[in-house]
Amino acid sequence: MFMYPIFITDDPDASVEIGSLPGQRRWGINKLEGFIGPLVSKGLESVILFGVPLSCPKDARGTLADDQNGPVILAIKKLRSLFPSLYIACDVCLCEYTDHGHCGVLHEDGTINTPPSVERIAEVAVSYAKAGAHCVAPSDMMDGRIKSIKRGLMDAGMGNKCLLMSYSAKFSSSLYGPFRDAAGSAPSFGDRKCYQLPPAARGLARRAIQRDAGEGADIIMVKPAMPYLDIISDAAELTPDHPIACYQVSGEFAMIHAGARAGVYDLKAMAFESTEGLVRAGATLILTYFTPDFLDWLS
Ligand SMILES: [Zn+2]
Repeated sequence: MFMYPIFITDDPDASVEIGSLPGQRRWGINKLEGFIGPLVSKGLESVILFGVPLSCPKDARGTLADDQNGPVILAIKKLRSLFPSLYIACDVCLCEYTDHGHCGVLHEDGTINTPPSVERIAEVAVSYAKAGAHCVAPSDMMDGRIKSIKRGLMDAGMGNKCLLMSYSAKFSSSLYGPFRDAAGSAPSFGDRKCYQLPPAARGLARRAIQRDAGEGADIIMVKPAMPYLDIISDAAELTPDHPIACYQVSGEFAMIHAGARAGVYDLKAMAFESTEGLVRAGATLILTYFTPDFLDWLS
């Protein structure tokens, strides 16, 4: 049930600690074998890749998101060849590759221009699928992108080869800070509140879940996880025939570590309790930075 989020950067020899995410690093593709190999031996079954371009030129439409020599596509190919049994999902977004740091293409006034954003996001998703990703996971939350990606996958002959996991109910949360450190993806102006959900918006979340299921999502995801257990439960009720994923995000992971360091609880006990709560709420797939720890704890 665990999928491990990993950060792939464009320095091929990178192994750089991420200060705010205990034990997590940004990896270059030359280091992937040494990093992932031991985890696969311990039973790691799936990863989700996040591209972290630090030196590539950025532009208004995120041109290099699907660069054939970019970190994500190189990592997909490398992991597929090194570890044939490993399931490889890829986060799909433009914000790491746009010069303004937003998740799509903008109007002149700085607001999101949805049609070209959706078209570009679908192009990137299809490129990842063609490179060998088993699953693409758009994290932008824009209307219409699931349908557009599904159509793109089908037109490319990948409709039955690549799964579409939707960040359906993604809340505008205070818990993304360490991830933004890791991915260097804080927007250069404004925030993402017009396309992410306000924390209290249960109705909008339910509508977004139904929208994405209707557009062709294969997995419905809720993000963050722990403060949104009711939404996970709603997703399980609204789409009972879909796997329900949730992302125990960077801030949750950092918070659990910080509490343990402060003597509030035992780290392992809290890691178990937090994920058991997610399963109880209805999650069947958990994206978590605790994955390597669970491989040890559960062995
Ligand atoms: Zn984004």
